[in-house]
Amino acid sequence: MNPIYLDNAATQALLPEVAQEVLPVLTGAPLNASSTHAFGREAKRLLELARGRAANALGAQKDEIYFTSGGTEADNWAIKGVALKKGRGHIITSSIEHHAVLHSCMALEKQGFAVTYLPVDKDGLVDPAAVKNALRGDTVLVSVMAANNEIGTIEPICEIGQLCRDAGVPFHTDAVQAVGNMAFDLQAMPIDLLSLSGHKLGAPKGCGLLYVRKGVQLLGFMDGGAQERNLRAGTENLSAVVGLGKALEIAAHDLGAAVEAETRLRDRLIAGILSRIEGACLNGHPSLRLPGNVNVSIPGIEGQSLLILLDMEGVLASSGSACTAGSPDPSHVLLAIGRDETAARGSLRLTLSRQTTQEEVDRALDILCACVERLRAFTPFRQEKGGKELV
Ligand code: PLP
Repeated sequence: MNPIYLDNAATQALLPEVAQEVLPVLTGAPLNASSTHAFGREAKRLLELARGRAANALGAQKDEIYFTSGGTEADNWAIKGVALKKGRGHIITSSIEHHAVLHSCMALEKQGFAVTYLPVDKDGLVDPAAVKNALRGDTVLVSVMAANNEIGTIEPICEIGQLCRDAGVPFHTDAVQAVGNMAFDLQAMPIDLLSLSGHKLGAPKGCGLLYVRKGVQLLGFMDGGAQERNLRAGTENLSAVVGLGKALEIAAHDLGAAVEAETRLRDRLIAGILSRIEGACLNGHPSLRLPGNVNVSIPGIEGQSLLILLDMEGVLASSGSACTAGSPDPSHVLLAIGRDETAARGSLRLTLSRQTTQEEVDRALDILCACVERLRAFTPFRQEKGGKELV
């Protein structure tokens, strides 16, 4: 039987319609968009077609789209590019950002910038009032993710963005997990910079983009040729960029219906886990949540053991972010929402895609319940009146 893939937040399979457009670029004529001959002109046409599709899907203008090597680069560029253009100052971010944002901020701290890492509430929400309070005269950037990759909580980015706009401070959002799951109309939304990644949308790995609103000042990311309007040098990853344009077009199509269907399956899985696994609790917001995200803590279970057992039984999942998989440290996101180390180590993330079926969800739930039962036979679990306790 085929494995049930429930790790779509880590990466998604290449969509067939995307592969159909990527393959001819990979296997056909040598295409470099900087060449002036016929092949070069064809490369340029494909590059600009992809840029147009991306702009359309996001409600942006074509010359506000800069292709990158992925979400990590887009985050690094947005944060370091804006901060270093100013030279010094203060940055506000949240404590549950992806490491691409957190480590960029930490790198800037070493260069003399001050950074405020805002706490979140028990559901993982950033309080816009806390952003307002943290703003200073020398704040040069606010960066808050659109949706969290581990617990799926959707942040109030429009409220936060508006506060920043009122204060004249650029606002960046890491939308790597949100694009394809939420509607974006950047013309209307108070967002100045936005990062996204191709492989979370069914496009190839190694490509992404940074949206930069016209007028926002930032340093270029790569020195070299004149690609991406002199800001991001290097021959474009044309086949992947073509795939990204197509994937964004698909993601924007029928978004409402796709989100509704995925949410129904997500809630079916959450309800099944909470009713069938004693002591299990949901991590993240119950409703302000990505349509494909299920994250639970299961007392009496060590997350890594559960993952191995699930893998052996054909359910492919994760305990949190793919980028920190295998790390002995508990998730910084789960600790930030107030879970203790034991609960953080007993967490399981199951992430669906538009392709996930009800049959897969039901089968995965049965397998999960059986695996938990087997593991608890080795590490007996007892629930006490006032809380959960391992025996
Ligand atoms: N930001 C978030 C929220 C993510 O989930 C990820 C990937 O997991 C990234 C950034 C990094 O994106 P990429 O893998 O394209 O570098």
